[in-house]
Amino acid sequence: MAKKALVTGVTGQDGAYLSQLLLEKGYSVHGLVRRSSHSEQFDHRLRWLGIQNDVEFVDGNLTDLSSLARIVRSIQPDEVYNLGAQSFVKSSWDQPVLTANVTAIGALNVLEALRLEAPQARFYQASSSEMFGLVQQPVQTEKTPFYPRSPYAVAKLYAHWTTVNYRESFGMFAVSGILFNHESPLRGLEFVTRKVTDGAARIKLGLNEQLRMGNMDARRDWGHAKDYVRAMWLMLQQEKADDFVIATGRTTSVRDMVRIAFGHVGLDPEDHIVIDPKFARPAEVEILLGNAAKAKEKLGWEATVPLEEMIVEMVEADLRRHRAGR
Ligand code: NDP
Ligand code: GDP
Repeated sequence: MAKKALVTGVTGQDGAYLSQLLLEKGYSVHGLVRRSSHSEQFDHRLRWLGIQNDVEFVDGNLTDLSSLARIVRSIQPDEVYNLGAQSFVKSSWDQPVLTANVTAIGALNVLEALRLEAPQARFYQASSSEMFGLVQQPVQTEKTPFYPRSPYAVAKLYAHWTTVNYRESFGMFAVSGILFNHESPLRGLEFVTRKVTDGAARIKLGLNEQLRMGNMDARRDWGHAKDYVRAMWLMLQQEKADDFVIATGRTTSVRDMVRIAFGHVGLDPEDHIVIDPKFARPAEVEILLGNAAKAKEKLGWEATVPLEEMIVEMVEADLRRHRAGR
C-alpha cells in the first residue's frame, strides 16, 4: 500500500517541491487548502511543476481544529508535514495576532488532531532559523540558544517547543526541522531573493527602471528549496525522532546577492537600487549562518546548490515569465 502524506501549506513554495518529491517516491499526497476567492490560482506552484492533478486537495484551515481533526480521521496519514504558516516576517508586525493564530496555534492544532485521531502518524514541523534572531553564537547549531526578533519568530518558537513537548509528553514521532532561508523560482515575490530576481528581470526587459529595497547589509544563509524538502522527508524516515538544523554553512549579504542577480543580466545595481525606509524592519535579524553537521552525519544530507546557481535559475525563470506575459 502506498504511504499517505498530509501536507499543510501545500500551495506554498515548500509544499509544491515536497509534494513532487513524495509523489516521485510513490506516496499518495493529500494537501490542506484554505478556502479563498482566488480559486483559479491557488495551485499555481503545483501547476509550475505539473503535479496539480496528482495531489488530493482537502478543505480546511490551520486555525480550525475541527477541520483538521476531521481530515486526519478520514485520511489516517502515515506522515504529516506542517508547512502552513503566515510565513513573511515583515507582515508579522502588521498582523501579529493572525501570525500567532496560524503559525503558533496552527501547529498546536495539527498536533492535537494527530494526538486525538492518528497518534502513530509521524509529524514534521517547519521551524525556522529566524528563531535564532539576535544570534547568540556566530554559527548556529541545534544547541544554540534562541532569541526571536519578530512576532513570526516568536510564533515559530512556540510551535517548535510544542513539537518537542508532544514528543516528550506523548511519545509521538514529532520532529522539528530548523531550516535556514531557502529559495527557488517558486519563492513568494515578497521575499528578498525573488523580489530581486524578478526586479532584475523586469529592468532588463524595460518593464521597470528601479527596485526599492530595505537593509542591504543583512546576511543570510541561503539554500535551494529542492534540497531542503529532501531533508524534511529524511527526518521522518529515521528510527528516532530528533531535531535538525538545515543550512549551507555560507552567509551572503543582500548586497552581494543583488550583485549576482543584476550581474547575470548585465546590469549595475548602483544604477537601479533605491533604498526605501518602508522596507526596513522594526527589529532586524542582521546575520544568520548555520552548521548542518548533525544532518550530514545522521541523515546523510548536504546542500547541493550554490547561491550563484540558484539566483541565476531564478532570474532566468523570471525572464521567461515576463517574456510570456505572466
Ligand atoms: P509559503 O509562504 O510559500 O507557504 C505558506 C503556506 O501556508 C501556503 O500554502 C499558505 O496557503 C499556507 N497557509 C497560510 N495560512 C494558512 C491557514 N490559515 N491555514 C492553512 N494554510 C495556510 O512558505 P514556504 O513554502 O516558503 O515555507 C514553508 C514553511 O516553512 C512555512 O511554515 C515557513 O514559515 C517555514 N520556513 C520557511 C523558510 C524559507 O526560507 N522558505 C525557512 C524556515 C522556515 P495559501 O496559498 O492559501 O496562502
Ligand atoms: P526572512 O529572513 O525570513 O526575513 O526573509 P526575507 O527574504 O524577507 O528577508 C531577508 C533579509 O533581507 C532581511 O534581513 C530583510 O531585512 C532584508 N531585506 C532588505 N531589503 C528587503 C526587501 O526589500 N524585502 C525583503 N523581503 N527583505 C529585504
